[in-house]
Amino acid sequence: MTRFKLQDYEGIAGSALIEEIRNLGEKLKGFNILHINSTLVGGGVVEILNSLVPLMQEAGLLARWEVLEGGPEFFNTTKQFHNGMHGQPVNITGEMLKSYLAAAQQNHHLVEGHADLIVLHDQQPLGLTAFRGESEACWLWYCHIDPRYAVPEVWYFLAPMAAVCDVAVFHLPEYARDLPLLQYFMPPAIDPLSDKNRDVSPKEYEEVLKRIGVDPEGPPVILQVSRFDRLKDPIGVIQAFKLVRKNRECRLILAGGSADDDPEGAAVLEEVRAEAEGNSDIMVLSLAPDANLEINVLQRRAEVIIQKSLREGFGLTATEALWKAKPLVATPAGGLVHQVLDGKTGLIARTVEEAAEKLITLLDNEELGKFLGATGREHVRQNYILPVYLRNWMKLLTMIAR
Ligand code: UDP
Repeated sequence: MTRFKLQDYEGIAGSALIEEIRNLGEKLKGFNILHINSTLVGGGVVEILNSLVPLMQEAGLLARWEVLEGGPEFFNTTKQFHNGMHGQPVNITGEMLKSYLAAAQQNHHLVEGHADLIVLHDQQPLGLTAFRGESEACWLWYCHIDPRYAVPEVWYFLAPMAAVCDVAVFHLPEYARDLPLLQYFMPPAIDPLSDKNRDVSPKEYEEVLKRIGVDPEGPPVILQVSRFDRLKDPIGVIQAFKLVRKNRECRLILAGGSADDDPEGAAVLEEVRAEAEGNSDIMVLSLAPDANLEINVLQRRAEVIIQKSLREGFGLTATEALWKAKPLVATPAGGLVHQVLDGKTGLIARTVEEAAEKLITLLDNEELGKFLGATGREHVRQNYILPVYLRNWMKLLTMIAR
């Protein structure tokens, strides 16, 4: 993987921001920060850490990234927690809680040794707080999920562990919870130079489409990229598409893979395939975890992109679509409302029927799509690209390092 330098981002982010990062880096030189999550592949947190950690290092920090290991039982449990955090009904057994705590025990070596700050990403590593002991580090829980709808049996199991930390970071101010610790708000970002988001040459574009069997010509494409997860509502996307297809010539591509820490992906993929069965205008693409260029090219191929999530922490797939100046239809879930400003940077739809209606509006109105796409890209450039995110991190670290 190509590693980019801070200066490589100057053209996109502007030199003032890069200078600000370097100045903050001077103040934070040698600050030792350890990130811990639970997978090396798949999902938004991995996407962020892959790009963020090397840039933190270049800025002068001693940044590290460790992955908590666990067996199938642990990941079944944490997926239940994930669903419960998103307000879905869950069935948590005593055995599951034991497997969660056992994984923390098994991984406690991760938090031994010196660090100025330990960052626990999402709920999987929260059990490590049991080993905080005499640790001199500051502990930070970074919740990448919208926690507002968390079911009590999950929230009240996790909250006391979160409360062992000094700081909780949520993506958005409206996600603040009643926790006895400092709360801070920091939305994530995309890396505009990564294979997922960089410009693509015409040759690459053609090659990739050929490889994945997508026609570069032909009817307009509607696309949703997401893990096969019920909360991304892939079935709702198909239902909306079927309504659109009754009136317009178009295709649907549902592209996604799974994450190592998401054991439900295969079952959801089967449900999606069953719903799409017999409809030659729907393509369900199961992608490898490193299919970054493929996602980039698919997003560029699409005429309209949809993100029909029922719940969403932030929704980096929407950020990626906007960065490619694509017209986007999205539900007002979690972070999507901050990205898709209705009528300015995309269109908001609440139901299957509304989604169909908005998709048709965009298919019929290329000029509107261009306008929304252009303002969407600029909105992302100002707020949700990696250098902005790194600057926000470093501002937070200057407060912690005091
Ligand atoms: N992603 C991917 N392959 C897939 C599906 C998703 O690389 O098959 C990426 C996607 O491009 C985005 C991230 O994983 O960068 C998903 O982040 P998001 O915030 O949209 O959702 P999450 O999966 O974290 O719920």
